[in-house]
This record gives sequence, C-alpha cells and structure tokens, in this order.
Amino acid sequence: MAGFDTHFTTATVTGIGSIGAGYLLFHLPLEYSYLYLGMAMVGGILPDVDEPNSIPFRTFKYIGAGLGSIALLQLGVKHWSVGIGIGIGLGAYFLLLFLIGFFQSFTRHRGIFHSIPMGVFGGIGLVDIGYYLFHFPVLVSYGIGGFFLVGFFTHLLLDELYSLKIGWDKGISIKKRRSFGTAFKFKSELYPTIFLYSAIGGELFLFMAIG
Ligand SMILES: [Zn+2]
Repeated sequence: MAGFDTHFTTATVTGIGSIGAGYLLFHLPLEYSYLYLGMAMVGGILPDVDEPNSIPFRTFKYIGAGLGSIALLQLGVKHWSVGIGIGIGLGAYFLLLFLIGFFQSFTRHRGIFHSIPMGVFGGIGLVDIGYYLFHFPVLVSYGIGGFFLVGFFTHLLLDELYSLKIGWDKGISIKKRRSFGTAFKFKSELYPTIFLYSAIGGELFLFMAIG
C-alpha cells in the first residue's frame, strides 16, 4: 500500500490539477482554492486514519472535533448569546471526541474509513455543511465536497494500483497481491456500515433541497 507521504503528495497534485480544471469548466471561484486543496488533502489521507492511535488519526480526531465545535459556537452566538455559544461549543467538542472514539472502536485497519460509503458520506456532508452552515455560494459548496471526493477516491485508487505487481514475463504480466480489492469496497463492519448508509440518506435529503 502507498504510504502517508505518497498519499499527501498525490492528493495535492490531483487537487491542483482539478482546481484548474474546475475553473476552466465551471468558473469555480478561485478565491476559495485554499479550502478546495485542504479538502482534497483531508480526503486523501482520511482512509488511512483508522490505524490505531496513528498520528493521522489523532490529528483528525482533535482538529475535526475542534472545527465542529467552532461551527456550533458560531450558530449558538448567532441565534442566542455568546455564553450559550461557548457552552454549546465546549459541549460539542467533548461529545465529538467521544463519538469519534466510539466509531473508531468498531473499526479495524482498512475498515469502514477505507470504504466508498465513507467517501460519499464525507463529500455530501461537506456540501451540506458549506451551504447550510457557512452560507457559501452553491458552486463553492459543491467544490468543497467535490475536492474532498477527488482526494478520497485518488487514495483508494492508488492503494489498488499498489496492490498490482506489474512485471515482464514473455509480455507484460500483471499479478494481484493479496491486498487487491480491499481498498474499494461498499461495506465493512456491520454497525458503522448501517450508520453510514442511513446518514447518507439524511444528507441527500438536505442536498436535494440546495439551489
Ligand atoms: Zn489506504
């Protein structure tokens, strides 16, 4: 399988290429490019986040919980008061840490985090969050989710390519390693899989209402 550095670089390279293509094809607003590239990088590293207590996992856990709680703090301050906003933000931080840990306790390496539904869940979820929570323009919201997907699926593809052994044996020969077929999958552990598909259903509901 491809390593951490390879995944980061591949996500960045495909991210830069697809940001250019997005501008050319859809006039994607370029002032949000940092965000697009950030999302591609997050997507590119997320599938391997489930290695127990790995640095990527812990980084994701704390940054993810922190960003989630700040989003809720903003909502609280906007709709109620600063005090309530801080309270909701703090509560959300510890709740998110707990939920991420709980989710992780079910998974093994190359488990649910390394699956197609996880990518779809993240991509649609980010479009919803960008549009409804941060009030980004529609196109920018699509961009945020879309570049996450670009990074995520590039990671899965790269892992599958690494599990092919390409050589020469009276013509080109392609052999499959044992890990072939474990990167692209539609399901993994039972409960997280059920949870993800139901969550995608909820996200799609919001997604359809955009625009
Ligand atoms: Zn991987």
